[in-house]
Parts: sequence; structure tokens; C-alpha cells
Amino acid sequence: MSYTAVNPYNGQKIRDFDNITDQQLSIVLDKAQAFYDKSQKQTIQERTKLLNKLADEFEKNTEKYARILSTNMGKLLTEAGQEVAKTSSFARYYAKNGVKFMQPKPYNDLTNGQAQVEFSGTGIVLAVEPWNFPYTQVMRMFAPNFILGNPVILKHASIVPETALAFQEACENAGMPEGAFTNIFADYDQINHIIADPRVQGVALTGSENAGRKIASVAGQNLKKSTMELGGTDVFVVLDDVDVPVAAKDAVKARLTNAGQVCTAAKRYIVSAKIYPEFLKALKEEFAKYQLGDPLDEKTTLAPLSSKSAQQQLQDQVDKVIAVGAEILYGDPTPVPGVGAGFSPLILTGMSDDNPMYEEELFGPVAQIYQAQTDDEIIKIANNSRHGLGGAIYTKDIARGRKIASQIETGQVTINSILSSQAEVPFGGVKDSGYGRELSDWGIYEFANIKPVMY
Ligand code: NAP
Repeated sequence: MSYTAVNPYNGQKIRDFDNITDQQLSIVLDKAQAFYDKSQKQTIQERTKLLNKLADEFEKNTEKYARILSTNMGKLLTEAGQEVAKTSSFARYYAKNGVKFMQPKPYNDLTNGQAQVEFSGTGIVLAVEPWNFPYTQVMRMFAPNFILGNPVILKHASIVPETALAFQEACENAGMPEGAFTNIFADYDQINHIIADPRVQGVALTGSENAGRKIASVAGQNLKKSTMELGGTDVFVVLDDVDVPVAAKDAVKARLTNAGQVCTAAKRYIVSAKIYPEFLKALKEEFAKYQLGDPLDEKTTLAPLSSKSAQQQLQDQVDKVIAVGAEILYGDPTPVPGVGAGFSPLILTGMSDDNPMYEEELFGPVAQIYQAQTDDEIIKIANNSRHGLGGAIYTKDIARGRKIASQIETGQVTINSILSSQAEVPFGGVKDSGYGRELSDWGIYEFANIKPVMY
């Protein structure tokens, strides 16, 4: 496998990168372990200071870091700037709360004696990350582990090598100690070898189910802790009492941001039958406002997909969906011609659960729409999925929205806002969307030693 940066808008190759050799990898592991040995004797405050410096580095050089996102995976420059800001906010959050999260916790209601639960690092953790949010995904793994003193070795997606190097450079500019964070361009065999190394204590994967099944099984064979942040088929529920234009605007943004390549994007709209015609009309009007183009041009509102192969994969999925009877309510399903990886937005209906694509994640600007007569029917459609990542509900009646939210089988649900990760709340999935949580206090304990000392 090769690590190559290609601009998905114009198809031009930017640069190839050499893979790491086994000898170099052995040195990386040695240095990571050396950092771990030191970190466990350091104060946490020393590391919180450095995390703040890392946040500063991203904040002060937003334009520089953002452009690399646009050229490597096609993100709109405005959205790339927002990603850099969020990356910085994740570092700040753990810098601010790290000491608090690491405070020992008393457990005094024991039958005999008492216990003090201590939190500490466990060792090297491998992060296998996707291309869709190349900095935030890495930071949400790195920042809590840095507080723990766990060294992080990064294997990034092979299509975003420059973003991986940019993160490494940011760490170096912030003065991170050697071994605390190391990017490697490794092949899958080397990844398996790292997981098996006795010094490595865990692996965090964010990516597709296919990758999740493979990495989780290697982790299992080696009895290593793993977290799996996988894909979803999230619902965007629109109840009959909404302000239709407002809900439609958010519904479209929730589907088309990042060219639709968001794990928690609104992939299935479920709309109350009473307002369905009105909502569909508003939806089509909103879709029509989005203009596909160069992500570096500020007039562009719809980015290309991340690569030619992503474009081909989505096209194949859409062709299969249509072949077995789904109907297109909006858009042109013929491939966008040219060297770029553009994809025309579509709204599909009639996706029955015997459609072979029903359970597939359509990772791009393709929405499905369903109508429902009752709240129970909404919940039934929402839960008729092997995925369980997120969801959103739009209604003026918050109590009704919360009642529905509680019955949706996913890792998180928002009411009247687009679902997006935030440092302060746990993020993760259930069912085939994976296991484990990132962000918040929960995120820091995934790879911690949680050790009661009883006396
Ligand atoms: P992917 O193809 O599964 O790749 C993810 C990462 O896994 C990449 O670094 C990839 O490296 C690596 N990988 C894949 N197979 C591997 C193997 N056998 N051994 C070692 N490494 C392996 O996913 P993607 O296309 O980059 O990302 C899109 C997916 O991520 C979507 O399904 C999306 O929903 C999901 N996602 C989930 C979350 C969440 O928090 N739940 C967040 C963002 C994205 P290569 O590039 O070298 O193959």
C-alpha cells in the first residue's frame, strides 16, 4: 500500500511518501516506550501546558493547517478552518480538565475499609484514523491519552499523508516530547505487528465496519483493549410541528457538510406525513442552493468526495439502490464527468428493507427519505437498522422530542440541532457502529488504568 496525496478536485498527484521500514518502526516503538516510562513520573500539569501550546499552534496557523485538508481530501476551506478550530478546542478541553479527571476518587461505602481509585496511563496506544476529519479524529484520541501519559502512534488513512505529517509538525512546534506522538506510514502487516507488540496496550480505530472487524479481531487475538468508532445510517426526524424552512435548511446542511462524508450525517430523513409534501419541497429548494466546485474557492458550497475511488464506490451503491426499485426525488444520478471526484446530490425514496443497499452507509451527498404517520412508526423506522451511531429530532415540543430520543437505539441524539461532536460530551456508537467512547471524561478512561487501592 502507498501513502499518496492527490487533490480530489483536479486529480493531480501532490506527493508520494515512503513507507516506514521494520527497523525504523522498531525505533518508533522504543522511543514511545521511553516517553511512557518518563511520563508516569511527570506531573500532569507539565503535559497540560504542552496541550495548550498545541492548541495555540493550530489556532495561530489556521489557514496553513486548513489548506492541507482542502488539498488532501477536498474539504471546503471554510469547513477546514472550522475543523482546525475544533481540533484546538479538543486540546484545550483536556488541558483544562486533565488534572481534574486524573484526581483519585474515594469509594467509601465498602463493607470493609475504604478504597481510593487511582487513574494512570497503561502504555502505548495505536490510533488508526480516517480521512474525513483528519485532525479532529486524531486530536480526540491524542489529547486524553497525552494527559494519561500514553504515547500515541498514528496510522492515518493513506490518502491524507500530508495531514498526518502536519499533525506531527504541530506537535513538534508545540514542543511535545519525543515519543509522545508519532505518525507512521505503515502497511497493514506492520499495523498487526504493532498491535501484537507487548508494549502496546490498545488500539483505537475510527473508520469503516470492514476495518473495524479486522482491527478488532487482531486486538482480540492479542488481548488488547480496543475502541471502535464506525459508520452509521443516522436519522433526521422531522415532526409535524416544526418551522419547515428552518428544519429543511438544517436537514440539508446535516447531509451535505463535508460533501456528506460524516459518520453522523443525516442519512435517513423521517418526516411526519402531515408535513411531508411541504417539507420535501423545502428540501429540494435547499439542495438546489449547493454548488459543487473547487474547495479552495469561497463561492463553492459543495466539496468533491475525498477520492476517485470514493466517487466510484458511491456511484456503484447508488446504481444498485436504483436498480431494485428506489426512486430519485431530486438530482441526477449520472456520474459527474471529469478528473475530479465530484458527486451530484440526490434524494432517494422507496428504499425498502429488502434492498441490498438498505443497511449500507452511503458516504456522500445522497439522502433517503421516509414518511411516518405516528411517533411509534418513526421509532420503528429509526431502529430498523444494524447501525446505532446518532440521530437528530426536530420539533417545537421538547418533551415529545426527548421521549422519542430515549427510544432511538444510538450512541447519541440531538434535538433541534445538527449532531456534531463536542469536547464536553461522550461520542460513540452501539450495534454495528462500534463500541467505546471518545471525548469528555469517558474518553480519557478508555485507555487508563482504573486502579482501586484498598485499605
Ligand atoms: P476505512 O477505509 O475503514 O479506513 C480507516 C482507517 O483504517 C484508515 O487509516 C485505513 O488505512 C485503516 N485500515 C483499513 N483497513 C485496515 C486494516 N486491515 N489494517 C490496518 N488498517 C486498516 O475508513 P475511511 O474510508 O477512512 O473512513 C470512513 C468511515 O469512517 C465511514 O464509515 C465513517 O462513518 C467512519 N467514521 C466513523 C466515525 C465515528 O466516530 N464513529 C468518525 C469518522 C468516520 P488505509 O487508508 O491505508 O486503508
